[in-house]
Amino acid sequence: MRTKLFFLLLLLASLLWIWLRSQTDLEQYTLNGATMGTSYNVKIVEPVTHIIDQTALHNDIDSLLYDINHIMSTYIENSEISLFNKAPAHEWISISQNLCDIFNVAIETSRKSSGAFDITVGPLVNLWGFGPEHNASDLPSEVDIQARKNRTGFQHLKIQNQPPAALKSIDSMYCDLSAIAKGWGVDRVAEFLESKGYHNYLVEIGGEIRAKGVNVHKGPWRIGVSSPNELSGIQKVIEVLDVGIATSGDYRNYFEMGGVRYSHTIDPRTGRPITHNVASVTVIYTSCMMADAYATAINVLGLEQGMMLAEKENLPVLMIVKTENGFVEKKTPSFEAYISK
Ligand code: ADP
Ligand code: MG
Repeated sequence: MRTKLFFLLLLLASLLWIWLRSQTDLEQYTLNGATMGTSYNVKIVEPVTHIIDQTALHNDIDSLLYDINHIMSTYIENSEISLFNKAPAHEWISISQNLCDIFNVAIETSRKSSGAFDITVGPLVNLWGFGPEHNASDLPSEVDIQARKNRTGFQHLKIQNQPPAALKSIDSMYCDLSAIAKGWGVDRVAEFLESKGYHNYLVEIGGEIRAKGVNVHKGPWRIGVSSPNELSGIQKVIEVLDVGIATSGDYRNYFEMGGVRYSHTIDPRTGRPITHNVASVTVIYTSCMMADAYATAINVLGLEQGMMLAEKENLPVLMIVKTENGFVEKKTPSFEAYISK
């Protein structure tokens, strides 16, 4: 009798243990695709008992990114930004609330970085062959650079919030949102996941990331910052719970001519690709869009001025700098807390 009772209790305890485990064990779902001329990757972590309709979720994310591209992409002729670029100057043009929000953040970042970040740099981006415009295979002449530079300047873009509208005060102004688009897209996908009840995820578009909650091992998300040295993959691993992370670097998108590397990041003050020794800038910020914009801004500013901006805004920033003795790391004090021990 006693033995029977013992086995019954043992059976009940085992069933309870299996049930408890199924309530706490986590499963990771991964969704990939292409967007913004690059790839995206979404990881969602949920209890194993919660079955996700991955096909439906994948379709929803694809269609969200499709809509985002139709606002932000200069590669799509009838995107909202392309239509604004073709619209006449000196008139208020009605824009969506989304584009209004993006313009406001872009202009704020331009002010904070004394014009190092500037979405009106588009004509120069195109001239140097990093935009949708077909370009010659030679390097641009000084005359061409000056002519394009005359078409730039964020102070010539005015925004009105109610109702959302924008006005450009120079003809042929051309806004390029590429330095902020991926971060903004990451934030929108994260917002969508939240709305569906997911709170453990990692969203990445072309290297810009938003991480929230825990990974499948119930720990903080661990993110590798790429090394600029092609031979060694990861420079640093950081651990995050709920932030955006963006990296701006000269090693992913550039061309080489006559032994010189030309970065896709343009210094709006010179009209030329940046030439200093900063190989990459990683910024952590609550919104990935701001992290993305700041990463580009600090990259343009270079080591000293970039670090000054990072410290003034209290940003966690990691810079990897090229020196004669190899790559050297520069960090703001607030970045240290994120480094994996
Ligand atoms: P990175 O991650 O290397 O900063 P991003 O994709 O964020 O790259 O931004 C670089 C893109 O932004 C360029 O390809 C160009 O389209 C645009 N861009 C280049 N220079 C600037 C600048 N000074 N301010 C704003 N946008 C820029
Ligand atoms: Mg950027």
